[in-house]
Amino acid sequence: MQNHMQAAVVEQFGQPLVIQQLPIPVPGAGQILVRTEACGVCHTDLHAAQGDWPIKPGLPFIPGHEGIGIVTALGAGVTAVKMGDRVGVPWLYSACGHCEYCLAAREPVCASAEFGGYTKNGGFAEYILADPNYVAHIPANLAARDAAPLICAGVTSYKGIKETQVKPGDWIVISGVGGLGHLAVQFAKAMGLHVCAVDIDDGKLAHARRLGADVTVNVRQNDAIAVVRQMTGGGAHGVLITAPSLSAFKQGVGMTRKWGTCVLVGLPPGEFPTPLFDVVANCITIRGSFVGNRLDMAEALAFGAEGKVKADIELQPLTAINSVLKRMEQGEIPARVVLEFGHQGH
Ligand code: NAD
Ligand code: ZN
Ligand code: ZN
Repeated sequence: MQNHMQAAVVEQFGQPLVIQQLPIPVPGAGQILVRTEACGVCHTDLHAAQGDWPIKPGLPFIPGHEGIGIVTALGAGVTAVKMGDRVGVPWLYSACGHCEYCLAAREPVCASAEFGGYTKNGGFAEYILADPNYVAHIPANLAARDAAPLICAGVTSYKGIKETQVKPGDWIVISGVGGLGHLAVQFAKAMGLHVCAVDIDDGKLAHARRLGADVTVNVRQNDAIAVVRQMTGGGAHGVLITAPSLSAFKQGVGMTRKWGTCVLVGLPPGEFPTPLFDVVANCITIRGSFVGNRLDMAEALAFGAEGKVKADIELQPLTAINSVLKRMEQGEIPARVVLEFGHQGH
């Protein structure tokens, strides 16, 4: 077996990733090695490479938290997975398992959590080290390329919808119908909701209608909030904001029905103004949601395995990563890009 792998590395924030040959890591006690088959490209990878957020990853690092692959080596003491299993290495790379949040299955907010492709090297590489207790278990009938977007975009959308606490028959607004949002539309329909998709791009909105959105609104038009309120009979019971744009957040609060919940998952750097009187007098809940726990992950993957949710993917090689990130920045990716790994000659 060769002992080097190709990887795309962030050496400096805001600079193109550098394709490098690096030694294949060796799993220590309690770790596993995964041979990457496919890895989705999330907008979070772009934020990571640009150093957008207050807590930055240490340089250099390998992004990617939608990596799916085959377990090819086990460190000492590993029993949670077997050689040959197909697993996903997600954003929630590991957590302590013992704090009040872990005990309550709120493990994404564990103070000791590690994040794949951020605080730990991720899936923009031919091999990934992983924690066997936190990998996603990929159902047998899901191809790696189809599973990849589900382990971040999928679980985050699914959990975000659950956090709105809507029930079948209610209205939900999905703001931003890109990688996360095009899956959110499908989850919402499968969960029996009426879906209003909003975006700034007519192509994305046409796609959302093909995926089952009942109505769509381009927020670049005048009075988008009033249009949504009218279409949903007074605002949506739940609003899920995936758009990586601050203007979407104030708008999303305005689209929320009285007593409704607006869930924030998009992560553009910065702050947004909140119309305090409206939020208070209409009893609106605004809450953040951060990926999901391991049970949310298994549930989201089950929707995929049952064919109820399917990512629209564009396949690219690892070496195309910089052009993919540039297109993402310019809003030119129709849904999700998945990097596919050939492993020729290995
Ligand atoms: P993406 O680039 O694939 O899609 C973004 C979509 O938002 C595009 O369709 C774009 O046209 C649309 N958009 C842009 N401005 C808008 C606006 N003002 N109003 C409505 N729509 C608008 O991105 P993605 O991979 O889906 O990620 C979206 C965001 O979610 C990123 O900020 C990412 O970091 C974040 N994210 C958060 C979590 C979490 O756990 N909370 C997990 C994954 C991703
Ligand atoms: Zn992500
Ligand atoms: Zn913990």
